[in-house]
Amino acid sequence: MQAPTPTKAAPPPEKASQGAVPLTATEILRRLEPLYGPLQWTPRRDAAPELVVTILSQHTSDLNAERAYEQLIQAFGSLEAVAQAEESAIAGAIRSGGLANQKAPRIKGALLHILEQRGALDLDFLAELPLQQAKAWLTALPGVGKKTAAVVLCFSFGMPAMAVDTHVHRVARRLGLIAPKTTADQAHDLLEAMVPPRDVYRFHVALITHGRQVCKAPRPLCDRCPLADGCPTGQEMLAGSTAEPASSRSRSRPL
Ligand code: SF4
Repeated sequence: MQAPTPTKAAPPPEKASQGAVPLTATEILRRLEPLYGPLQWTPRRDAAPELVVTILSQHTSDLNAERAYEQLIQAFGSLEAVAQAEESAIAGAIRSGGLANQKAPRIKGALLHILEQRGALDLDFLAELPLQQAKAWLTALPGVGKKTAAVVLCFSFGMPAMAVDTHVHRVARRLGLIAPKTTADQAHDLLEAMVPPRDVYRFHVALITHGRQVCKAPRPLCDRCPLADGCPTGQEMLAGSTAEPASSRSRSRPL
C-alpha cells in the first residue's frame, strides 16, 4: 500500500526507530477506515444503560459485560430497581461479568447519585453541556473514570470524547502517538487533542478493531499492517527482532 505523506507530524515517541515517520491521527484513520468501516456514529443505547454496561466491562470482555447486563435487567426489571437493590443482590446478578463485588457498589452508587442529582435516570442533559463539563459531571460519580465517561459521551451522544481502552492504549503507544510511559489516563486528553472532533468516534473504533485483529497483544501482525511504514514498533519488528521492543510494551491496564 502506497503511503501518502502525513500532513502533520505526531509527537515523537521517547524511543522511535530511525526511518519511521510517525503518522498523524488523520492519516491513521484514512488507512484503517476502509478496512474496518464504514464507522459512522449511531446511538448505541441510552446513557444510563451505557454507563452500567461500561462499568460492567471493566477488566472483562464486551461479551461478558453485555451478558451480565442482561442478567441484571432480568433479575431486577429496571435500572431504577437496581438502584434500590442490595449490593449483594446486584453482585449475585452480575457474577458472570467478573469482579462482581467491586462492580456492584459502583453501579448502585452511580445510579443513586444520578437519581439524587437529576430525579430520574436520564442523562440527556449531558449532551447540552460543553464536553469538559459533561466529563466532569460523569467522573464525579462513584466508580466512573475517564474511560467510562468518554464511552458514555461518545457512544450515547456522539460527543468527541476519546475513550482509551487497553487496545487504543497499546496501539497508540506502538505507533508513537503517545510516549511509552504514558498511562491510559493521560492518553485520553493527549489523543483527544490529536484527533479532529468529527473523527473521534471513528478513530476510537478503528484503533480498537485494529488492536483486536492486527496489532494484537502480545505480538502484533506487522507484516500485514497498513500502518507499518509509519510505525516505530512495526519497523523494529519487521527489521528482524523477535520480540516487541520494550519501549512500547504495556505498563498499565486502564479502566
Ligand atoms: S506496524 Fe505492527 S505495531 Fe505498528 S500498528 Fe501495525 S501491527 Fe501495530
